[in-house]
Amino acid sequence: MFNAFVLETNFYTILFNLWVNVFLAMRFKVVLLFLFLQFISCAQTYQQVKKRFDNYINYHGSLNTLVQIESDKIIFYNTQKQIIFVLVKDDWQKMALLLKTLPEDSLEKIYLNKSAFDKYKAPTRNSVKKNLSELKIIIDPGHMAGNLNMAHIEQKFLHFTKQNTPMLKQDSVDVAEGMLTFETAGVLKNMLQEKGVTVALTRKENGTTFGCTYDEWFKNFKKKTLDSLLAIKKITAQRHKQLISENASKFFIDFFKDYELQQRVRVINVFKPDMTVIIHYNVDEKNTDWKKPSDKNFCMTFIPGCLIADNIKTTQGQLNLLRLLLTDDLDESEKISGLVVNQLSQQLKIPVASKTDATYLSEHCLASSTIGVYSRNLALCRMVQSPLVYGECLYQDSENECYNLMQNTETVYGIKTNKRVVLAAQSFYNAIIQFYTK
Ligand SMILES: [Zn+2]
Repeated sequence: MFNAFVLETNFYTILFNLWVNVFLAMRFKVVLLFLFLQFISCAQTYQQVKKRFDNYINYHGSLNTLVQIESDKIIFYNTQKQIIFVLVKDDWQKMALLLKTLPEDSLEKIYLNKSAFDKYKAPTRNSVKKNLSELKIIIDPGHMAGNLNMAHIEQKFLHFTKQNTPMLKQDSVDVAEGMLTFETAGVLKNMLQEKGVTVALTRKENGTTFGCTYDEWFKNFKKKTLDSLLAIKKITAQRHKQLISENASKFFIDFFKDYELQQRVRVINVFKPDMTVIIHYNVDEKNTDWKKPSDKNFCMTFIPGCLIADNIKTTQGQLNLLRLLLTDDLDESEKISGLVVNQLSQQLKIPVASKTDATYLSEHCLASSTIGVYSRNLALCRMVQSPLVYGECLYQDSENECYNLMQNTETVYGIKTNKRVVLAAQSFYNAIIQFYTK
């Protein structure tokens, strides 16, 4: 009886141990499979890197003499055809991970010094897919205007009058792009926050990304900024003198517009977002002077690429190129942008722009393999260090849109806006949820 019990116990113990071992082995296999998949998902093959360079980055061969992608190494040259940087294939993966994890100054050190690179251990990579509550998304509402006066200063407005266009359905139409983008960003921010996402905007209402309005910046920081740029020889004495004398409107176009974009990039990169959502509203490029409505209306999205030699002159430019070549930023930008443009088209019921629908698409962009997604050499596309979507929701000057964009019939999350803006925000939201849950 005792023996039988022992035997029986042993039998069950063996059975239990067997089961535990099978479970552990399976778990080990699952862990191995998971690690393998992780490795696969961040492994950078020659074909991937070459495809990114040929199909997205190297605009009409403009980097042919400066960048060479070989199956076992990447080589950068200067304009005198001297080699300035070599990265062997064995180091691609480590560099990709460092590009996603190190701050910019450390990246410059390892880029300029091979032994500094060798001293770093390859960091472990976080999984691309995260819970929504772990995500950090930054939304950039394009431009700055919170009123028509500022919209005129930044030259991002529509002003149609019956005097100019007798067929106009009302006395006048006034639309400011910066107000539409800010309302869209506000609605989208609230929608994402309800899902637990950490969301930031790059600017406040009628604000610049310096944290103040343009008027305030012009009054308090114009002289200080120009003086310090002169002191570090970033501008000449002649340009300094000229800019100092300019009024707010002229100074905005001649200097501030581009200067502020650099700050926008800084604000985005300091936040270390998992994704950057850049919101714009387009116009028909051929409807110049924008005095009357257009019969065209399209949506489209932009992603990084189309680089030229000038973009990779500096160390920072070369590091940006390496990031686009070696990390998944481009692939993920294409994926989210494809989802966004598809949603914009569905929700707003407007067609997706094909390459022939605008001159800048056929002449200054490269069409990706996803419909409505174009590589374009925009400062934000080039320098934002995360996957991004740069969405051009619709044509503001379209005769089907311009009257609706002036309405204030909707109040969403306390934001007064119109139906088209709410649908645009919904499009971005749907696409982001699809991106992280599919
Ligand atoms: Zn815009």
